[in-house]
Amino acid sequence: MNAEEYLETARRFRREIVEPNAAQWEAEKRQPVAALKQAADAGLMRLETPVEAGGFGLSFLTKLALCEDMSRADMPFIFALINTQNVAARLSATPNPAHQADYVPRILSGDLFAATALSEPGAGSDFAGITTRATKVDGGWELTGEKGWITNAEIANLFVTYAQCDPDAGWRGVGSFLVDATRSGFTRVEPYALSGGHGIGAGGFKLDSYFVADEDVLGGPGDGFKSAMSGVNGARVYVAAMCAGLVADALNKAVSYGATRTAFGEPLLNHQGLKWSLADVATELEAMRTLTHAAGVLIEEGGDAVTRAAQAKKFATERAVSLIEACIQAMGANGLREEHGLGRHLISAKILGYTDGSIEMMNERIGAALQKEYAS
Ligand SMILES: Cc1cc2nc3c(=O)[nH]c(=O)nc-3n(C[C@H](O)[C@H](O)[C@H](O)COP(=O)(O)OP(=O)(O)OC[C@H]3O[C@@H](n4cnc5c(N)ncnc54)[C@H](O)[C@@H]3O)c2cc1C
Repeated sequence: MNAEEYLETARRFRREIVEPNAAQWEAEKRQPVAALKQAADAGLMRLETPVEAGGFGLSFLTKLALCEDMSRADMPFIFALINTQNVAARLSATPNPAHQADYVPRILSGDLFAATALSEPGAGSDFAGITTRATKVDGGWELTGEKGWITNAEIANLFVTYAQCDPDAGWRGVGSFLVDATRSGFTRVEPYALSGGHGIGAGGFKLDSYFVADEDVLGGPGDGFKSAMSGVNGARVYVAAMCAGLVADALNKAVSYGATRTAFGEPLLNHQGLKWSLADVATELEAMRTLTHAAGVLIEEGGDAVTRAAQAKKFATERAVSLIEACIQAMGANGLREEHGLGRHLISAKILGYTDGSIEMMNERIGAALQKEYAS
């Protein structure tokens, strides 16, 4: 499938499967496993995995287009899908042929869900402060500790897991390991009840002397931290694209509603105050898309995307909450009705303000670059 065919398939899947069912999935308070499997059957899990490993090898900009489009209907659904496909793309590049022969095909077919586990119950923003401990043993490493706030923890059986190999070394001691939930030493924690975000399946797991063979070490001490930090820039940009999808859908609904609903003898949209508030939403939506695209191009070209990715995520997640709220306001009480999905979008925007680094952490990244980028 080329990018155009892939995105057309995704749009059809959104219209036929995701849009009609998203509210029901959230009401059931669980991840829509069958629909995720259906998405994999339609080829959507093959996005970035290279062709030689069974994927479509499509670009990062295609990923952004997918994230914006699918979020119009259901951010948690695409968040779960993307987090799984990210692991397939990552494992297709490891030197261990068993990863490509076993795990990657099962992820692409939707028979295995996956996740990336950095956060812990006691450490989120302060990633270098994780306490899950990796201890070198004969033939591999033993992992002990607990992970928390992990996307897909409800359904995933494969986790790219970060652990501290040398507590005295800080971030330089962090490594990354492949954890298979079907092996001994792994215990899943009950997923969190997360208002409006059950489709993400956020939860955690405990590791008790869990053995990782040397061949399943993805990054040794130091490499783990660096690989997490380089991957997170891309995640921040696709999160910004998801925000654009949420706002675009909210605006679409508010404009359609305002064109037909009358008040004081005229369509709502004829009232200047209301029209101007939606003009503001439209303008900020385009600013969000422009910033996201610029950061996406940097990722695509392998440039230094740290600042632009942080700016895109900060702007998108901060503004999406207010912009969706403005659209709900423009629809009056009807904006609150579940059938429009704007309440779900609002909480989705709030959730995205934490994932892959909070707004405050984006300020830290942008602040660190002020002198270099803005002082001359
Ligand atoms: C739905 C969902 C899915 C997630 N999925 C994953 C996943 O798949 N994998 C994963 O590893 N993690 C995941 N996370 C965790 C996410 O990365 C963390 O929530 C995020 O890093 C923030 O950490 P925290 O929530 O522990 O907040 P904390 O780090 O405890 O911070 C609390 C508040 O203090 C602020 N703060 C902290 N330090 C500073 C400072 N120095 N200056 C100013 N303010 C500060 C933070 O910005 C935040 O507002 C997910 C989170 C959510 C909500």
